[in-house]
Amino acid sequence: MPKIITIDGPAGSGKSTIAREVAKRLGFTYLDTGAMYRAFTLKAIKANVDLEDSKGLIELIKKTNIDIIAQKDGSLKVLLDKEDVTLEIRKPVVTQKVSFIARIPGIRAQMVKLQRQFGKKNDIVVEGRDIGTVVFPEAYKKFYLDADFGERIRRRMRDFEALGQKICPKEVEDDLKKRDNADMTRSVGPLKQAKDAILLDTTNLNIEQVIEKMLSYIK
Ligand code: C5P
Repeated sequence: MPKIITIDGPAGSGKSTIAREVAKRLGFTYLDTGAMYRAFTLKAIKANVDLEDSKGLIELIKKTNIDIIAQKDGSLKVLLDKEDVTLEIRKPVVTQKVSFIARIPGIRAQMVKLQRQFGKKNDIVVEGRDIGTVVFPEAYKKFYLDADFGERIRRRMRDFEALGQKICPKEVEDDLKKRDNADMTRSVGPLKQAKDAILLDTTNLNIEQVIEKMLSYIK
């Protein structure tokens, strides 16, 4: 049976950086489930489907191919219907709409199915919002990462800067508030800490400290 390590938490809590590095050190595959929701959101935008039209979106996802391919340096390439959308899915237009689409139960069901298939074939470190609670409730180890709101804003600002995207702090603050609220209050697969997940507050920890803490729980 492949080993599964889950990391859930709000945006800006450090999940992606930590998950990627922990996977690398353990020799596991890294899976970013947020990238899958983002890729489908991009498809819906491009296909001009009304985002209120749940039925239309569920039809669309059935005709959508999302591949997440691990690269040698530990990063992921995201393919949407074979097209590389790794950078495009980080654009604000996608970020603003993704939680709205991720609230639809039929979309989540399809994503959960894909994520479980991935977990059948590989030892994985997988990050998202509902991974320890819904996707892999029997995971080997579960973590919930959190950090102060102000610190999460600063981290997101740095992410945007690294991508060369200009954005003001107020915009980032509004996005985080909106997404946290949508992600925590939806009826299916809301963001919450699984009962058996280890809570790590990363506010005052650097990346290496979080990784070491996590590895000490895993080993
Ligand atoms: O992790 P990231 O911030 O890229 O995720 C983008 C969005 O995808 C989240 O705000 C959330 O709405 C959705 N998501 C989700 N369930 C997951 C992963 C992401 O609903 N497992």
